[in-house]
Amino acid sequence: MKKHNFSAGPCILPQEVFKEASQAVLDYNDSGLSIIEISHRSKDFVDIMEEARSLALELLGLEGKGYKALFLQGGASTQFLMAAYNLLQSKAGYINTGSWSDKAIKEAKFFGEVVEIASSKDANYNYIPKGYEIPTDIDYLHCTSNNTIFGTQIKDIPVTNVPLVCDMSSDIFSRELDYSKFSLIYAGAQKNMGPAGTTLVVVKEDILGKIKRQIPSMLDYQVHISKGSMFNTPPVFAVYTSMLTLRWLKKLGGIAAIEELNEKKAKLIYSEIDLNPLFKGFAAKEDRSHMNATFTLVNEDLKETFETMCKEGGINGVNGHRSVGGYRASMYNAMTMNSVAALVDIMGDLERKA
Ligand SMILES: *Cc1c(COP(=O)(O)O)cnc(C)c1O
Repeated sequence: MKKHNFSAGPCILPQEVFKEASQAVLDYNDSGLSIIEISHRSKDFVDIMEEARSLALELLGLEGKGYKALFLQGGASTQFLMAAYNLLQSKAGYINTGSWSDKAIKEAKFFGEVVEIASSKDANYNYIPKGYEIPTDIDYLHCTSNNTIFGTQIKDIPVTNVPLVCDMSSDIFSRELDYSKFSLIYAGAQKNMGPAGTTLVVVKEDILGKIKRQIPSMLDYQVHISKGSMFNTPPVFAVYTSMLTLRWLKKLGGIAAIEELNEKKAKLIYSEIDLNPLFKGFAAKEDRSHMNATFTLVNEDLKETFETMCKEGGINGVNGHRSVGGYRASMYNAMTMNSVAALVDIMGDLERKA
């Protein structure tokens, strides 16, 4: 039986993408060859890479606005240092909204001064800081749009004249934003776009090349741009599968259409969390993530019963991260309303039983 997969990442992808990707592993486009055995320099693969890059820009509304999309390796974690390597000349500002921001800060410190402009560490990151002042003498401002572990999401993008850099690993392509407010966006594929193994980088070209230090080729955005995201062998399967997911999203009506569904799913689970006296939400209400809902049981004695019910109901991956505890329901783009309803039904059943 196919399960309702609430895993935080790697995570759910559309069923039709799984089907098409597995077919392509056996025989790509009736070529008699697998997608993972053809040359990355072949026309077939170059076309895939180009389609993936252009779909990413198209869906984000960034076509013709001076941006380039790259599919790199090393995960979002490599972007923590690569962003700083390419952009941090003397001082950068970071908003610390969780473990991932914290890690990004740690890496940036190898390259220059890092100012923590705001932080919600004081409350175990259960809210998004607001009302902070952004200095104007920083090379860039870095934020994390969605905090996968804590279940918070930035609703109002910081307003600043310095280049805005954003880790969007867990909510890219999930909601309408003015993406042109960002100069650099990066996202590990495995949360909302594809399998693990590639990282989408969307960068505004005019912010590059301003740094004085030398940058090793593999970590230089300009090198990857000049080589069409093929400086070395790209992760062909991850790029292909991400491309299929982006095609799926476009066919569905793009970000506007998926945002509507994501809002409905979030409303369904959060209203259960709020109305059901057995559960309590972790994140501050106004900052709740539409991608990862974090909650706990009010009475820990019900833990075993609840978890058994989840298991029997085919619910997978709802255990919370160790730094928050409790539960986390990740509801990325490919998750259906039906799956969220299945979890909500179990939460309701528990109330009736208890
Ligand atoms: C998962 C995640 C990361 C880490 O991604 P890797 O690809 O594993 O390096 C970074 N930032 C956020 C917001 C994440 O959710």
